[in-house]
Amino acid sequence: MNIVLFGPPGAGKGTQSALLAERLGHKHISSGDLFRENIKDQTPLGLEAKEYMDKGQLVPDEITIKMIQETFKELGGRPFVLDGFPRTLPQAKALQELLDRMGLKLGQAIFLEVPKARIMERLTGRRVCSECGANYHVQAKPTQKPGICDICGGKVEQREDDTEAVIAQRLQAYDESTAPLKEHYQNEGLLTVVDGGGDAEAIYRALEAHVKD
Ligand code: AMP
Repeated sequence: MNIVLFGPPGAGKGTQSALLAERLGHKHISSGDLFRENIKDQTPLGLEAKEYMDKGQLVPDEITIKMIQETFKELGGRPFVLDGFPRTLPQAKALQELLDRMGLKLGQAIFLEVPKARIMERLTGRRVCSECGANYHVQAKPTQKPGICDICGGKVEQREDDTEAVIAQRLQAYDESTAPLKEHYQNEGLLTVVDGGGDAEAIYRALEAHVKD
């Protein structure tokens, strides 16, 4: 079944959707990861997206939708877990149109609910491997060797947009543009709300329990 996972920044979308996709054998498509890969490769798309990401703003719909449309061409019939897309109502509409054209259906839109107070602590403490993208947290999940990824030995860093000032902007963008998706998917009969407030394992257990067959 095709799944969308959404929620505020710091809800654990990246970690949880990667786990879920692996478990279900689905393709994991993360719009944030796609932008970061483009930035790393210094593509024109990456350079344009970076301007917005550095300020904690959403990348404009037109650019984001085009990138996702391109990625969907490589799906090869596999079901997917979408992580971080859609993030606005126009993106949700574009996704629906894309799926209609491809003869696909969205089965579930899972919202990870997290109290605002937890978000800041999660995001400011988050560290990410610059090579393989593995996620850590300075308190909750530190690396075994400081600054070195346990999995691939890559350099573990703070994301440029995980500073307090940028996080505040990202939260504002979330409130204005992404929060309305909850009502949208509720109206579509696709919404499932999962408690994203606990540790990663607890969230995953709750998520698994809520995924429909
Ligand atoms: P994420 O890794 O999901 O936290 O995304 C990091 C940043 O990438 C966001 O703060 C946005 O600037 C940008 N981004 C990711 N997904 C989208 C999207 N669907 N629409 C617009 N901007 C996005």
